Amino acid sequence: MSRLVMKFGGTSVANVERIHNVARHVKREVEAGRQVAVVVSAMAGKTNELVASCKEASPLYDQREYDAVVASGEQVTAGLLAIALQKIGIPARSWQGWQTPICTNGTHGSARIESIDGAGIIDGFSRGEVAVVAGFQGVHKETGRITTLGRGGSDTSAVALAAAIHADRCDIYTDVDGVYTTDPRVVPKARRMDRVAFEEMLEMASLGAKVLQVRSVEVAMVHKVPTYVRSSFDDPDNPGEGTLICNEEDIVEAQVVTGIAFSRDEAQITLRRVADKPGVAAAVFMPLAEAGINVDMIVQVVSEDGMTDMTFTVGTADYERAFAILEKIKDDIGFSSMAGEKEVAKVSAIGIGMRSHAGVAARAFRALSEKGVNIRAITTSEIKFSVLIDEAYTELAVRTLHTLYGLDAA
Ligand code: ADP
Ligand code: ASP
Ligand code: MG
Repeated sequence: MSRLVMKFGGTSVANVERIHNVARHVKREVEAGRQVAVVVSAMAGKTNELVASCKEASPLYDQREYDAVVASGEQVTAGLLAIALQKIGIPARSWQGWQTPICTNGTHGSARIESIDGAGIIDGFSRGEVAVVAGFQGVHKETGRITTLGRGGSDTSAVALAAAIHADRCDIYTDVDGVYTTDPRVVPKARRMDRVAFEEMLEMASLGAKVLQVRSVEVAMVHKVPTYVRSSFDDPDNPGEGTLICNEEDIVEAQVVTGIAFSRDEAQITLRRVADKPGVAAAVFMPLAEAGINVDMIVQVVSEDGMTDMTFTVGTADYERAFAILEKIKDDIGFSSMAGEKEVAKVSAIGIGMRSHAGVAARAFRALSEKGVNIRAITTSEIKFSVLIDEAYTELAVRTLHTLYGLDAA
């Protein structure tokens, strides 16, 4: 008997009417003779609201209690969907993270799944029951406390559950009908792709395309879970196929650039007149690493008279903290001044074809300069390059690159 995991995101379960619509999608698969586990997110906006309440209660909230609070959104939708399924004659029950259990490490707020015991769910299948699993949440076995997997984490719950119960596939239902060449809400000319390679999807997700959480793509790749992105707004009786995330070898028509991603969640810090000598980079970046701050793009200017300028980016949420840490160790490192900018964005082009084509990034630099977009920093790797620009130019830059690489829909 074939086995399926279906995941429905926030907008797909935004209210009871939409939950009834989700139930119809589930019914279709059950009637096709499949064993189904459904993973649900919180209703749209609910998690943001709960995060804001934690901050309101105390800006320095306890991460363990934060998890107890924000995990509650998924508990509600799991129960409601089970009720909606029962109403249309489909036996179903809800499963919280601690009940399954979905065991994670103890990193509250961004925990990683360590193991999933699917026995209870599979037992339910044998009784003809649909399992409705609360996404985003797990339990830290050692302490027994509720954990959450980081924003967008229900995607990872779904793929990991599919691997654990040996499902034939995992369908991620969302508010778009697949993965596009860039965010279709920003570029109306974006094209839906039938297939996208794991490596490309990993880069797109980590560079800002929030359609899938990065970790979910890693899990799908490692455990070889055929994963589709589809729309919950399609007719439940006749849905589209969506986009398959697959191996590079299974892509028929390889493109040099397959997608453009962007992130506004960037901030830039520049240190002026830093001594250009061994050990300085370590002195700057070790304290940031120790504080759990991720540093992304790093550019060091050629030195004059033994002094250099150093510029790098951190996530917007870490900006104030990074600034304060560097201010404190300023005299130890020995730089003359520090500047920062929060209104910056990172725009990236991704494609496995870049491995075998030269000059792909150079064309972008010219196209952006022709549009008057100034580039603050650049990074490149095997299958992507990124530019840091003023945030106000984000859409212009994304559209320019989308057109440049021939990605616009006809
Ligand atoms: P869900 O609540 O279902 O998890 P998300 O909001 O997390 O949905 O992700 C879906 C959104 O991702 C879409 O509405 C779209 O705006 C955005 N998105 C960003 N980049 C892309 C892309 N390349 N392809 C498709 N959607 C994208
Ligand atoms: N509800 C959680 C969030 O908004 C998890 C998810 O939707 O995947 O981040
Ligand atoms: Mg999401």
